Amino acid sequence: MSSAAVGGPSAAPYHREGQHLSITVVGSIAFDAVKTPFGERERMLGGAAVHFALAASFFERVRVVGPVGDDFAEPELAVLEEHAIDTDDIERVPGGKTFFWRGEYGWDLNTRETLDTQLNVFEHFEPKLSPESRASEVLFLANIQPDLQRRVREQCPQARFVAMDSMNLWIETARDSLLQTIAGVDCLILNDAELRELTAKPNLVQAAREIFSWGPPGPAAIAAKQGEYGAALLTPDGFFGLPAFPLEAVVDPTGAGDSFAGGFVGYLAARREELDAAGGELPGDLLRRAMAYGTALASFNVEEFGTERVARLTAEEIFARVGELSEMTRFSDVRVPLRR
Ligand code: AMP
Repeated sequence: MSSAAVGGPSAAPYHREGQHLSITVVGSIAFDAVKTPFGERERMLGGAAVHFALAASFFERVRVVGPVGDDFAEPELAVLEEHAIDTDDIERVPGGKTFFWRGEYGWDLNTRETLDTQLNVFEHFEPKLSPESRASEVLFLANIQPDLQRRVREQCPQARFVAMDSMNLWIETARDSLLQTIAGVDCLILNDAELRELTAKPNLVQAAREIFSWGPPGPAAIAAKQGEYGAALLTPDGFFGLPAFPLEAVVDPTGAGDSFAGGFVGYLAARREELDAAGGELPGDLLRRAMAYGTALASFNVEEFGTERVARLTAEEIFARVGELSEMTRFSDVRVPLRR
């Protein structure tokens, strides 16, 4: 992957206002309580849709679909609006409480324990998308109950690229519904361990093959998130892997997966002409570049708590990190005579 292939900063078409280009995302909008070895926060803005939207907002206008309670106040909304994220489809439920999640990380940040999940306003949520959100051509079904993901998917019939995430909770409690949701997307973005759990296959390549065997319809690409080890991309006839960007200080991994998805889907949305030119296929080179942007956004997210770092990230920082990642993963296949 050369930086020429990625395109220089001028190649990224940010916020092409007026052209009706947008990404719609449904998923949790949350208050998170998080404890890591480096500190804790009792109540911070979080949620899968929020982390996704902040990352993807660098590439396209993002419309967030989901409910919040009375406790979701102006400062939280302002974080989204300051980043030109469309909040028209965020529904405030009078008397309701915003989704709440509490988690704690182990000493090396590789293990996370969920201590509390309160669905609150999501329990009786009926998504009703505005005409603008329905018109989005790119859709991300961030982590939430799979019935809800599907109800949003069904309201966006002209979406030409749909990706989704999920988690062990839904694999274990809503498997049939989850499988139906998976059948309606082009790309599945899931943790490595969740892919194994979903398919009951001990090996990632086998897990991907199993998922491809469920279709069509169904995903033509799978991004397997591997935490500090990076991410792998599997397609029916290809594989690509990137390490996570090496950081000396990781503070809070919460939302890394959603930031990855935001960078990945955001990049694909911004390069929609390439998708169009491929006539329904997902070009391998485009997916690889999207993986690099996803990896870069995730790496910034973990540098500070919650949304703090991505909220003040700049385009220049993103380009610089993708450039470093490109350098870092390049090697030449210089052969030596082998002894046998
Ligand atoms: P990640 O670290 O990328 O897996 O995502 C963390 C975000 O997921 C947090 O901000 C939580 O609010 C949110 N989250 C945690 N549990 C759930 C759940 N069961 N459904 C939806 N979102 C969740």
